[in-house]
Amino acid sequence: MKKRVLITGAAGFLGSHLCDRFIKEGYRVVAMDNLITGDLKNIEHLFPLEQFEFYHNDVSNYVHVAGELDYILHFASPASPIDYLKIPIQTLKVGSLGTHNLLGLAKAKNARILIASTSEIYGDPLVHPQSEDYYGNVNTIGPRGVYDEAKRFQESITMAYHRFHGLETRIVRIFNTYGPRMRLNDGRVIPAFMGQALRGEDITVFGDGKQTRSFCYVDDQVEGIYRLLLSDYSDPVNIGNPHEITIGDFAKEIIELTGTDQRVVYKELPQDDPLKRKPDITLAKEILDWEPKVTREEGMRITFEYFKTLSKEELDKREH
Ligand code: NAD
Ligand code: UDP
Repeated sequence: MKKRVLITGAAGFLGSHLCDRFIKEGYRVVAMDNLITGDLKNIEHLFPLEQFEFYHNDVSNYVHVAGELDYILHFASPASPIDYLKIPIQTLKVGSLGTHNLLGLAKAKNARILIASTSEIYGDPLVHPQSEDYYGNVNTIGPRGVYDEAKRFQESITMAYHRFHGLETRIVRIFNTYGPRMRLNDGRVIPAFMGQALRGEDITVFGDGKQTRSFCYVDDQVEGIYRLLLSDYSDPVNIGNPHEITIGDFAKEIIELTGTDQRVVYKELPQDDPLKRKPDITLAKEILDWEPKVTREEGMRITFEYFKTLSKEELDKREH
């Protein structure tokens, strides 16, 4: 019998790519989502498949899945700063109560569970690049704290289930990942800049543009997650692309890529916006034999092609 995997947040950006990967590998996939930031369009191509099921469910309330499960991947959570500022309580709940429910399910089913953590647990880091042994610098009461602290709690409760109940757990610390199926209006920098290019608007750089990020293409991220799930390593592992760039320089790259002659305008930097972010991926290289393969140039080109296929209606939709 084929192995069966539950993926929460399956209608979102990363969750939908994970569904594709596990289907491709021959697994039976149980997808779960409450569609708060996701879209069924991301997985509708999987609906006709016999080995694919979808449950519309808020995992913060209760999680029930009939039958056996071999693996659980908990990816449900708002992930864009604008989203989690708009729905702060749901963000706290899905990282804490939702994670608790899924750990309980994993225990009941004797399944291995992988939890989606984030580079945000390092906060505005005082160590650069960030390696897994850095404890982080998070403002617990700041607006981003709802996401960062929920994810920190998520890591703690996952390790407690591992140590106390002997549950098989995996923790991936995901650094900024991008690609097709990101929501054009979710406020994250790549859809924001590409949407502005497509509408012929000014590019909005927050602050002086000297803050850095390191962008990982989604296929590389999914490969890292897949390898981590199948590994025997239960401490957290960074998965991201260490190729760092300032947001100011990234705006210039986008103008070049999209062939537009947009102006760059500067807007206020959001509170607690991390000044630097770059993963140290030594551990992932060592234990997973993994490193990113897709260059930023190639990944951005594929992503821009995807956004170009969206309708004018989707392009003009303003959520924020
Ligand atoms: P996304 O918003 O596209 O997907 C999240 C999905 O979770 C959505 O489909 C949403 O509807 C669903 N969801 C949210 N709350 C839920 C709930 N209570 N019950 C059921 N479903 C719920 O975001 P994404 O970029 O795909 O992120 C997925 C996961 O990866 C998140 O846990 C996020 O914290 C983590 N992550 C992503 C990145 C990144 O760069 N994309 C970086 C770090 C961590
Ligand atoms: N940013 C920006 N303009 C935008 C959106 C984002 O300059 O229109 C900046 C943001 O302030 C941050 C970086 O781009 O420094 C990455 O932001 P994003 O929301 O993608 O994710 P974060 O890494 O902050 O979670």
